[in-house]
Amino acid sequence: MSKRLYIETVGCQMNLLDSEMVVASLRRHGYELTDQPQQADTVLFNTCSVRQHAEEKTYSSLGKLKQHKQRHPQTTIGVLGCMAQKDQQLIFARAPYVDFVVGPGQLQEIPKLIAQAKSGANQQLAVGLGRRDGSLEEIKRSHETFDPLRDPQMRSSPYQAYLRIQIGCDKFCTYCVVPNTRGPEQGRPPQQIEAEARVLADQGTKELTLLGQTVNSYRHTAGESTTRLSDLLGRLQEVEGIERLKFVTNFPGDMTDDLLHAVRDLSKVSPYLHLPLQSGSNRILQRMKRGYTLEVYDEMMTKIHDTIPGTAVSSDFIVGFCGETEDDFQLTVDAAAKYRFKNSFIFKYSERPGTRAADRLVDDVPLAVKQRRNQELLALQNQISEAGNQAFLGRAVKVLVEGPSKREIRHPSSGELVQMTGRTHCDRIVVWDGNRRQSGQLLAVTIFDASAHTLFGQVVTEHVGPEVFALRTPDA
Ligand code: SF4
Repeated sequence: MSKRLYIETVGCQMNLLDSEMVVASLRRHGYELTDQPQQADTVLFNTCSVRQHAEEKTYSSLGKLKQHKQRHPQTTIGVLGCMAQKDQQLIFARAPYVDFVVGPGQLQEIPKLIAQAKSGANQQLAVGLGRRDGSLEEIKRSHETFDPLRDPQMRSSPYQAYLRIQIGCDKFCTYCVVPNTRGPEQGRPPQQIEAEARVLADQGTKELTLLGQTVNSYRHTAGESTTRLSDLLGRLQEVEGIERLKFVTNFPGDMTDDLLHAVRDLSKVSPYLHLPLQSGSNRILQRMKRGYTLEVYDEMMTKIHDTIPGTAVSSDFIVGFCGETEDDFQLTVDAAAKYRFKNSFIFKYSERPGTRAADRLVDDVPLAVKQRRNQELLALQNQISEAGNQAFLGRAVKVLVEGPSKREIRHPSSGELVQMTGRTHCDRIVVWDGNRRQSGQLLAVTIFDASAHTLFGQVVTEHVGPEVFALRTPDA
């Protein structure tokens, strides 16, 4: 009889990828997925610690299972991921019916932990070492990456896949828990990455997004030879079947010329860079310990646009960080207006226990002020994004078709799906009236309308010769 697994995932792309691996490994142990926790034999929560809100969501979901576990004690409940690594025993204290807590570096142990829980073992904790709890090698070993298994059924589109090239982070920005929850920065061997890319290409993947917390600092050294991200992109460019390569998230201080040249010269690499600025004020950047100034960021942006004209750049911002004044915030607004990012993710600062900011700085910006700054910056970014998208009106763009759009609009009489979605090479979302058979294709779509987040287009139905795609600027 099949066993039923329910998994709930919050957080970043790393977590989505971790969940994909966990599901793949449990399928090999006879599990089928269910979308109802009450119907599952095993319930897993893959958690995030980057903001308090994400943690509250997990504790609330756990709370909802308390009575279910009392009535069905044979159900196994596990908490995985960054919150598991950060809170450890606290999770058992807050939710005593949880069977095991597993850090991101111990995911390979899950099948064993489930089997032990089902045979009546006590609560189990499997987490990585803290950053001061051993030698660097010991700590690295305790934050092992878990990447061998790929499960196309877990991906929202079979044509796109994340591929982890690096784990951990050594930057220690003062607000961030990641260096503690995911351990030291470690690049995966390029041979492993390339082999995994070939498996994914065989499964039908056309677009690979390489993942790392500071993906552009990727390095792997074996003997005398060091592989950088630019070298890796060169190798992946040769993988047959892969049409597009993206990489996130970049650290502005590590943006090197060789990488910009790779983006310019390798046809499969998207002209799209995510480069979180976080603040436009040097005083705040220093308090965040970001390791660069606005002047350094400015120089980098000039170099990017000189090297790869038309490249789309996106950013992240934190508003209301400790000590942020109206003048500091105005500098952030000015920077956003100057750099005209394709889009930005804007967050209100949320203090995270265990970070240097929580220990040494005062979270002194009132919530109402954080909210107002968030809305102001968001309104500006939306204007900029809309104007950026309007520049595509009347142009043909080449879209990798992901599948039906979330709205799933259907033809009234045939029931045929009519709204499809995909992305341009520079990561802009496009929707158009089409059909499911277009999924996975690279289609020419002419844009006739644009909002801040979406381009609306029509499929170019006449013969599509190379000249249509040749019209494409690096931004398309
Ligand atoms: S670079 Fe900074 S913000 Fe990004 S993961 Fe590392 S510590 Fe966190």
